[in-house]
Amino acid sequence: MARHYHTAIVGGGLAGLLAACDLARSGIRAVILEAGKETGGRARTKKVDGFRFNQGPHALYLKGTFRAALDNLGIQYSGSKPAIDNAVTLWGKQKHPFPTGFGSLLRLTPLGLLERVQVAKLLMRIVRGDYSLAGQSLDDFTQYFRPRVKMLLEALVRVTTYVNAPAEIDAQAALNQIRLSLGGVIYLNDGWGSLVAALTTLATTSGADVMTESRVTGLTWESAGWHLGVADREEITADTVILAIDPAECARLAGRSAILRDTLRSMKPAKVACLDIALSELPRPADNFALGTDEPIYFSVHSKAARLAPEGNALIQAMRYLGRNEKAGPGNIETLENLVDLMQPGWRAVEIHRQQLVGMTVMHDIPQARNGGRRVPVILDDTPGLFLAGDWVGGQGMLSDAVAASAKFAAKAVCMHLGGIEKDLPASVARLS
Ligand SMILES: Cc1cc2nc3c(=O)[nH]c(=O)nc-3n(C[C@H](O)[C@H](O)[C@H](O)COP(=O)(O)OP(=O)(O)OC[C@H]3O[C@@H](n4cnc5c(N)ncnc54)[C@H](O)[C@@H]3O)c2cc1C
Repeated sequence: MARHYHTAIVGGGLAGLLAACDLARSGIRAVILEAGKETGGRARTKKVDGFRFNQGPHALYLKGTFRAALDNLGIQYSGSKPAIDNAVTLWGKQKHPFPTGFGSLLRLTPLGLLERVQVAKLLMRIVRGDYSLAGQSLDDFTQYFRPRVKMLLEALVRVTTYVNAPAEIDAQAALNQIRLSLGGVIYLNDGWGSLVAALTTLATTSGADVMTESRVTGLTWESAGWHLGVADREEITADTVILAIDPAECARLAGRSAILRDTLRSMKPAKVACLDIALSELPRPADNFALGTDEPIYFSVHSKAARLAPEGNALIQAMRYLGRNEKAGPGNIETLENLVDLMQPGWRAVEIHRQQLVGMTVMHDIPQARNGGRRVPVILDDTPGLFLAGDWVGGQGMLSDAVAASAKFAAKAVCMHLGGIEKDLPASVARLS
């Protein structure tokens, strides 16, 4: 006989883990079905000779929904803010100071006086939250800006959102993300895998089953329950299902939802090419951070702020934000190697390991101006009992903050749905719903 759960969560990345923790802690019988050998998805960390490779550069927004969710669950983590004392913006190959605060605007070369005034006014507006731009693209918003101010703003949007699509991204969402970043970010000691491990342990100790190497291959609704076909395992049945996977896989499993099918047609992912390099030493210890303005590139020595490399060694991150229609390929890596040459000349002689991730999806759907920044909803009205969670779902936040917001909402929606069909639920569920 098939094993039965109140909720089956497909996908054991951050979205699935967060939803499972919320549900299991309320007494809901939940199972995570994860295709991979381990949980974590894009938040995994690979350990190689004492180096910790995240899936590309990851920073935790201190004022974000994800951080709040971790604190609420009692998840422990540690880390530090990026070392940006000596940070630079790149204009061609020229290095200029990075704007770290209002004081630094005075020496914000290569901008002239009028441009600095425009940047200062813009930053004041962002700090105050004095803008109402939903439905406008970043390009719409910046069309009358001086060219170098526009370039600087686009660079700040890229570094905070990972999105290189000024014609498509919703300006309200973009500026909100810069505003969020003013609350600070940290790089995590031991990498984001430490969060994955803690969330997996919490889900399990709270009563959820976590099944890895369990790819869900089919999802059907039959005789008042969901039936999940799982590769090489027995079928699972559940009253409700949360799909915490990528949109294409969702469409394969839940193609009968017209809402989902329609949304998929207009999705715009944010993609990057990453080069992470482990070094036996850092050739230029003071040069830790650079952000391209005329080129969509990023450089940061994450091990300077967080425990990601053995003592005396270093782990550096270089990244290119891929634009619309830009093909991911080996050329991206060459560009990134040139960037590292500029920031850390001599690195090639001290390279120990590297990780290349070309064409990585950071967010499956960006908040688009044409949709007023909204993405597919958590609750699919045309498919009762089926819910979505991930960085492409819901109207709140971006990146792992969108993940946390949608996962929390999905867990709550599950409770309400289960309450409606009056299953044998613990009293705590009634409180949640
Ligand atoms: C390069 C890069 C940099 C990033 N930087 C940041 C950052 O600085 N700050 C930030 O907040 N966020 C950042 N992010 C985003 C963050 O990592 C993701 O938003 C988050 O990890 C997504 O979690 P998820 O659970 O929604 O999806 P995923 O992590 O993709 O998890 C989905 C899981 O579902 C599993 N799966 C798929 N199909 C099936 C199936 N049929 N059956 C069972 N399991 C299945 C997959 O194996 C996977 O484990 C970054 C991402 C990348 C790639």
